[in-house]
Amino acid sequence: MCGIVGYIGHREAYPVIIQGLERLEYRGYDSAGIALYDGDNLKVSKTKGKVEDLKSRVDKEITSSGSIGIGHTRWATHGVPNDINSHPHVSNSGNLVIIHNGIIENYDPLRQELINRGYTFSSDTDTEVLVNLIEDVKKNEDVRLGKAVQIALNQTIGAYAIAVFDKTKPNEIVVARLGSPLAIGVGDDEFFIASDATPFIEYTNNAIYLEDGEMAVVRSHKKLKIRKIKDDSLVDPYIQELQLNLEQIEKGGYDHFMIKEIYEQPDAITDTFRGRMLVDQGIVRMAGIDDNIEKFLNARRIIIVACGTSWHAGLVAEYIFEEFARIPVEVEYASEFRYRNPVIYKDDVVIAISQSGETADTMAAIKLAKKQGAFVFGVCNVVGSSISRETHAGAYTHAGPEIGVASTKAFTTQITILTLIALKLAKHKGELSNSEFRAYLQELERIPAKVTEALKCNEQAEHVAAQYKDAHNALYLGRGYNFPVALEGALKLKEISYIHAEGYPAAEMKHGPIALIDEQMPVVVIAMRKGHYEKVVSNIEEIKARSGKIIGIVTQGDKEVKKLADHVIEIPETLEPFTPLLATIPLQLLSYHIAVMLGKNVDQPRNLAKSVTVE
Ligand code: GLU
Repeated sequence: MCGIVGYIGHREAYPVIIQGLERLEYRGYDSAGIALYDGDNLKVSKTKGKVEDLKSRVDKEITSSGSIGIGHTRWATHGVPNDINSHPHVSNSGNLVIIHNGIIENYDPLRQELINRGYTFSSDTDTEVLVNLIEDVKKNEDVRLGKAVQIALNQTIGAYAIAVFDKTKPNEIVVARLGSPLAIGVGDDEFFIASDATPFIEYTNNAIYLEDGEMAVVRSHKKLKIRKIKDDSLVDPYIQELQLNLEQIEKGGYDHFMIKEIYEQPDAITDTFRGRMLVDQGIVRMAGIDDNIEKFLNARRIIIVACGTSWHAGLVAEYIFEEFARIPVEVEYASEFRYRNPVIYKDDVVIAISQSGETADTMAAIKLAKKQGAFVFGVCNVVGSSISRETHAGAYTHAGPEIGVASTKAFTTQITILTLIALKLAKHKGELSNSEFRAYLQELERIPAKVTEALKCNEQAEHVAAQYKDAHNALYLGRGYNFPVALEGALKLKEISYIHAEGYPAAEMKHGPIALIDEQMPVVVIAMRKGHYEKVVSNIEEIKARSGKIIGIVTQGDKEVKKLADHVIEIPETLEPFTPLLATIPLQLLSYHIAVMLGKNVDQPRNLAKSVTVE
């Protein structure tokens, strides 16, 4: 799931590409590289490490960069992260150079064939196989680069977004995609190529998103022609006007994207229901639901497929859908669902949740569900993403770009949109009266202000973080709607501070985890006044009796937990189903501060990447 960038036009290519790579680093950051043609020579520079490392290397070497080039920031799938395995990869002749996001699954037999024909390989990557396969086709069939790429890709199995050029004909870049995203920014006599639109947003608002199975030969002074890789048929390019602005993708004065995004949640949640929730009229308007209302109302059940944080949002949604809309819900890990031959009925509605809209396992689950005749609805954040295009209908969360690898605003906005959907269906089904429906909407409308209020616990969270930053383990407990929040809190701690943490339904303690409790064990307990409060208080007593350290997330004005807990963090009161939107906030802040205090790379934690486009 790397980031790819390319440029062809009249500007110096190097600054455009390097800045683009910095913006795409969230997609992978174990190595980075760049290839530029300066008019005389092809210069390839690559290194294990970050774009920053590449920059310090290249800044010394590059005096003039020419106006064609490609760059890559890697998240290794084949071959360890090292200089040699970094992209770009050059073909044996030294003429062709490629960057690739994805996996060529049949790289091994292809590699053997090429070795038999005299090719040699310096890296362990599937990508180096691909560039030599293209070279081999080009030579044997005596065709232009575009044709050679097409023929070669038709011999591959797997996923790719690629950009490749030939130093002997440095007037074109050939791009293609299958399964990995690729956007082309269209300027005046110049083109930008990237995994998403952020690298070129200050140069052009016009973008073409290649669809799966499409390719293009990009030449600076020519109109773009898009073809299907399979049969060479021409496709009309659809130029989309982008709504992104530069400020949105920069840190805006915060130390990290993660904390910026935590603080953006009041606005992000407002943006999620903007134009959809008309409180005065008691209406929820969502085209994706309105146009398919019968499918939802007649659904035998709803199956939610997702991974990671989105899966946790799906679990919250399960409680809300069942409570309000009275539709049975199953929540599945997409990676399990896709491989376990699940029973899917034609009258099932599948909801696929993915911030990036590129999650490979979720995409595969969608394809499976569609094949079996189910109606598939997508909940994505990234507009124009693969999942948003693959699903029958959907709703964007409109959270704005989420750059921090640990998901924050994506989670709360996913819950918001799913809550809106559940309430809307409940109203249609007559499960909620008009006045009940309106009361819920009114409270939902107050949530952004309450999130702002909850964010005031930042200092307190920092104080608690300082006490527990050296813990080796932590437990997170919650019940009902806040059980998934406990899972999410534990995940946040694990992913950015590398402290082992587990989330449990509070009542499960007695069935095993309570054995872990001792005076070293911090236990974060979500104990909202609404929702099994007394039961959770009893669970706290049980932990206390075993000397565990309690951090209570409580409703403002709470008295009982305060008496028992070592620390409490208060959040505003709200209706029980909406408590996850508030209880999540201190947990995000807690893990953020612990990670900062431990000196961890908060926005780019080790071994992770933002959009998981490999299974
Ligand atoms: N398979 C390629 C490699 O390992 C690209 C990896 C990716 O897209 O993450 O270098």
